[in-house]
Amino acid sequence: MSKVLIRGANIFDGTGADPYPGDVLIEGNRIKRVLMAPGQLPAEGCEVIQANGQFLMPGMTEGHAHLSFDNVTATADLITPPPEEHTLLTARVAARLLDQGFTSAWGASEAKLRLGVAVRNAINEGHMKGPRIRAGSLEISVTGAMGDESRLHDPRPGGPSMIVDGPEEMRKAVRLACREGCDNIKLDVSGDPFYPGTPANTTPMTFDEVKMAVDTAHAFGRRVNAHVRSIEGAKVCLKAGVDVLYHCEFTDEEALDLFEEARDRVFVAPTVSLFHTLLYEAEPYMSNEIARAMQIDRLLEASQDTHNALRKRGIRHTIGGDYGFAWSHNGTNARDVGFFVQYFGYSTKEALVCATANGGAMMTMGTDEKLGLVQEGYLADLLLVNGDPIADPSVLVDANNLTMIMKDGSLHKNALTQ
Ligand SMILES: [Zn+2]
Repeated sequence: MSKVLIRGANIFDGTGADPYPGDVLIEGNRIKRVLMAPGQLPAEGCEVIQANGQFLMPGMTEGHAHLSFDNVTATADLITPPPEEHTLLTARVAARLLDQGFTSAWGASEAKLRLGVAVRNAINEGHMKGPRIRAGSLEISVTGAMGDESRLHDPRPGGPSMIVDGPEEMRKAVRLACREGCDNIKLDVSGDPFYPGTPANTTPMTFDEVKMAVDTAHAFGRRVNAHVRSIEGAKVCLKAGVDVLYHCEFTDEEALDLFEEARDRVFVAPTVSLFHTLLYEAEPYMSNEIARAMQIDRLLEASQDTHNALRKRGIRHTIGGDYGFAWSHNGTNARDVGFFVQYFGYSTKEALVCATANGGAMMTMGTDEKLGLVQEGYLADLLLVNGDPIADPSVLVDANNLTMIMKDGSLHKNALTQ
């Protein structure tokens, strides 16, 4: 069994506690020992990495991954690439995320049903490099809602979403996604600012449809993600047993109470970077005026109010910002740590917990496996950072600052061993 000894690191263990100096021994794919007194563990038979006080932390989890989105400016970018080219693109993005310190990617949805599945399988079989992947499905939506871009005179089958109506069609679609290997089923429960016919505060998908999706996915041992912005949509998802809720800009007291009741069961990714980048960094694709006309500024404000409230109620937030658009590139995902501090009132240490411990708990939900902390018995996904992410989380965005990236006990990158 391979052994790696990391000596003299400044260990941020992912619990939110202050970092401390220590050594970490990795055997096989697991953290075997963590010692607060540096220099005590024998180096015999180990590859030794001298950390020289660098910041050791758990690998990060992207909680809303779109591995098949790269430089997207319109839904055509999801539909038009042939599956062969699109698979290669997905593989490149997956490799990029690992290079950027994301040892896990929780698939939100992919542009074609099996893109995440194929790349996950290739990584798991050792054919290519990439994070641990929970493969997202194609989005499932209902007639007239987000993702249904057909019109009576222009049917356009094969849009960016599978369109179902009623619980029975939902059951069939979810079973199909399960059969094809998807780990996470994505439902478009609420509307969206990019679909004027169903704005963000609308809820076109019904409780019965969502409940059917959840029951069917769970029967296969899979999980359900929901795109949800409306108050009603959040309530529907929480009552129906959805596992991961995205966006969630609008709430009321009843919805907040439902979130709090479900806080040991659900994970929430606010995807704040999409609004931030649409408002301030989307030129020339979208001007600030157009973003405001789409009420992105209002959505960002609502997001701030809701997620500050959810933070206070102990909801497990994960970072994950809908990266993959031309204004929010896949690879810059660690910006979310800073956005959590800027918009949601988190301390940097707490935001790092969202990026690591919460993400690891999400990836292993429903299993006995342990991921996301630097503690004995946990899977060995680790980063060494030349810099202090607690003082300045932006150091995590530049891969040059990541001197070691370990996934599942294997060194993906090691710039320290001479
Ligand atoms: Zn998304």
